[in-house]
Order: sequence, then C-alpha cells, then structure tokens
Amino acid sequence: MSDFSILINTVYVLCALLFIFGLKLLSHPSTARKGNLLSGLAMLIAVVVTLLDRQIISYEFILGAIVLGSAVGVFAAKKVEMTSMPELVSLFNGVGGLASLASLAVAYAAIVNDASAGVFVLIVSFIALLIGAVTFSGSIVAWAKLSERIVGRPIVFKGQAIANVVLILAIAASGYLLVTQPAMATWHYVAIGLALLMGVMLVLPIGGADMPVVISLLNSYSGLAACAAGFALENNLLIVAGALVGASGIILTNIMCKAMNRSLVNVLTSGFQKVHTNEMKIEGEIKPLSPDDAFYVLEAAQSVLVIPGYGMAVAQAQHTMKELQALLENNGAEVAYAIHPVAGRMPGHMNVLLAEADVSYEQLFEMDEINPRIEGFDVAIVIGANDVVNPAAREMVGSPIYGMPVINADLAKNVFVLKRGMATGFAGVDNPLFFKPNCRMIFGDAKETLNSLVRQFAD
Ligand code: NDP
Repeated sequence: MSDFSILINTVYVLCALLFIFGLKLLSHPSTARKGNLLSGLAMLIAVVVTLLDRQIISYEFILGAIVLGSAVGVFAAKKVEMTSMPELVSLFNGVGGLASLASLAVAYAAIVNDASAGVFVLIVSFIALLIGAVTFSGSIVAWAKLSERIVGRPIVFKGQAIANVVLILAIAASGYLLVTQPAMATWHYVAIGLALLMGVMLVLPIGGADMPVVISLLNSYSGLAACAAGFALENNLLIVAGALVGASGIILTNIMCKAMNRSLVNVLTSGFQKVHTNEMKIEGEIKPLSPDDAFYVLEAAQSVLVIPGYGMAVAQAQHTMKELQALLENNGAEVAYAIHPVAGRMPGHMNVLLAEADVSYEQLFEMDEINPRIEGFDVAIVIGANDVVNPAAREMVGSPIYGMPVINADLAKNVFVLKRGMATGFAGVDNPLFFKPNCRMIFGDAKETLNSLVRQFAD
C-alpha cells in the first residue's frame, strides 16, 4: 500500500468515526442539529479525499454536478412543506439507489476487464446493482403514491404472487449468467431491467398509508446498495457509510412497525390481506364545547398536558400552542407535552414542529414516561391527534389497532379534542375517546381554536 493510500484510508477512518458520532448526536433533539452538521462535514471530507484518490477525468464536470445538485437540494428542502417531507425523503432514497446503480454501471466495464477481479467482485456488483435498481424504482412508486400521482390504495391483480415468483427466478437466473458470463453486456442490462420491475412490483401492493414504513425500509436498502457498491469498487468508506445507513434504516423501520403494532411482513403484504372493517359499537355521546367555555376550564387548571398529532402539522398550530403555553404558565399551570413515536406522518414529526416553535425539550415526554402520570393532569389538550390517543387499542379486542401502544389521554381529568369534524385518523378506525364522559370536542381548525383561546387569555 502506498503512503498516499494509507493517508486516504486514515482519513476514511476519521470520517467513519465522525459519521458514528454524528449519528449518536442525532439521537437527541438538542444535539440533532450538531449531529447533522458533523455528518455533513464528514461527507464533504470523504468526497474531497476520494476525488484526490481516484483517476478523475473531469473535475469541471464533478464541480458542476456538485453545484447543481446542492442548488436542487437546498431549493427542495426549503420549499417542501413539513407534511410532504416523506415524499422528499422518498425521492432522496431513490436518488441514492440510482447513484449506486449508476456507479456500478459505469465501473462494470472496468470490473469485467480486470483479470484479477474474482467471482466475489462480480457477485457483489450484481447485488449492488439489484438493490440499487429496486430502491430506485420502488422509491419512485412510493413517491407517486404519497403525492397522489397514482392511486394510494394497494394495487393488486390476479396472478400477482405467481408473477413475483417468476420475476425472482428470472432475477436469480440473470445474476447467474452475469457472474458466469461477465463479458456479455446483455445480462447486465437484463438484470437492471428485471430489478427495476421488482422495485415496482414490491411497492405497488402496499397501501399509501403504509408508505412511511416502506420509505424507511427503502432508505435501508439504499444504504445496503451503497455498501455492496463499496465492496465492488473497493472503497472502504462506502462500505462503512452504506452499512450505517442500512442498519439505521432497518432499526427505524422496526421501531415504526412496533409503534403501529404491526410486523414488517404484515406491512409488506397488507395489499394481499383481508381489509379490516370499522364496525365496533361505541357507547356514549359527543359533547361539543366552544373555545369560550374551554377557556374557563383552562383558566382554573393547575396542570395541562398537550398531545399533538398529525392535525397539528396540517393546521401548523405549533406556534399558537407555544403562545398558549406561555399564557397558561403565567397563570400558574404546569404544561407538559406527550409525544407518541408515530404521531404525525414521519418519525420525530412532532419533535421537529415543537422545536420549530421553541418548545423546551425538557417539557417533551415520551409515551412511556407520561402514561403513568396522566391521571394527575387537570386537562389533556389533544391537538389533531386521533389514532395515537385511541383507547380502542386497549379496550376493543378485534379493533384493527388493538394492541397498539397509545397515549392514555382518556385517563386525564378532562380531555379537550381539537379537530375539524368526526373524521377518522390514518388507521380509519372510530375513536371511543370522543364519546367518553370526560371528553369535550372543540370543533374547528386547531390553529383557529388555539388562537381563540389565546385571545381569551390575553383579554
Ligand atoms: P391521525 O392521522 O390518527 O389523525 C389526525 C387527525 O387530525 C384527524 O382525525 C383529523 O380529523 C385531524 N385534523 C386534520 N387536520 C386538522 C386541522 N387543520 N385541525 C385540527 N385537526 C385536524 O394522526 P395521529 O398523529 O394521531 O396518528 C398518526 C397515524 O399515522 C398513526 O395511525 C400512525 O400509525 C400513522 N403513521 C405514522 C407514521 C410516523 O412515522 N409518524 C408513519 C406511518 C404511519 P379531522 O379531519 O376531523 O379534523
């Protein structure tokens, strides 16, 4: 190994350490920004040293691509609505898969012509190509479903399972031919085409509602594709970075499935399963309340628990909630926030919104921390949350969400639910919380309702 290559690999090890440290910092909201910056810096160093190391044909093109790519990235990240973030992440994953696929496609000729390249390199090249193509086409379908460019419901057709088996066999055959006859470029194109089709076939039968989990899984795939490409291209940092993305993506997928009380197999095959019906019988009656009347209860409250959900993101009510929090605290009440792991439409959705509104991290409590304390709260304000506070998950055996861990809002002394009407949440299940004797419904857009409460306190 030359001195130069030792230097490059030492920098790679440093970058890998920075990635790991960056990931560690991402695990808490107060340090997440720093973690993101650190990982970004490590990636920049990695790109620069790689450009010094490889036989670069045109630095001008690479610089042009970096400027163009960064401009598109900054524009997209600034323009995207928080509720559309999963779509953007999906596109990013797709591009990650495409990058691995493209690097492999370009390097393939060199790999084939390299007499020293053994079967191992050919196999990992095929794996990288396969996962990269599946990630790319699967992510595009996921993006199209989420952005409603195609129907969100599971798309299934007669004979789909058999078609999938045939496709898997064809991919295995193309892989065998590609490894045994590497000089035949045709197998290379056939394998790419089949893998692209596989990505489409994998995501089509999954409902739009399960897309966030699929996106997290595809994120993991994009890491695995990069990792396999690292083996094929003999780049140690690509192997480490790809493995980190692959592992963190699968951990996140697992956390999301657990919080929804579903198995990954159940999510991936949901389109082929019998649809649950929403026919649970709920006792009790709906009791609407005006913001004016809610104000009197809040004025007397000593402790208030805020439980945000997807509706808060839709209404963009986090800043108004922060104003109300200050007024409640001035009035002598303790205010805490309860965060469910799958509230909203992406992991950490509520944390991001509340951080944006400058709500202190010390006031945010995870579901397991807050549930044992809920009975002590005078009022629980549910802002656009539905499934994550649905007691059917505890009480109604047979409910599609039975067994899902939820925030036990119904156990607070009084519950105010802020939502526009009686629509169900993401899971499509009715919510017995709204019919409980201690629950009052404050109908209307969450931000407008909170604004009325703020006005009452300020008067
Ligand atoms: P839900 O989707 O269960 O409910 C959101 C509620 O917000 C709706 O019932 C809606 O009722 C109300 N709403 C919408 N807009 C407004 C508005 N402007 N003002 C007031 N209310 C509004 O949300 P939750 O956060 O409780 O649950 C998240 C769901 O998403 C769970 O089922 C979870 O499993 C799922 N999920 C979450 C993922 C994640 O990573 N976070 C990933 C995948 C799935 P109405 O229309 O009547 O106002």
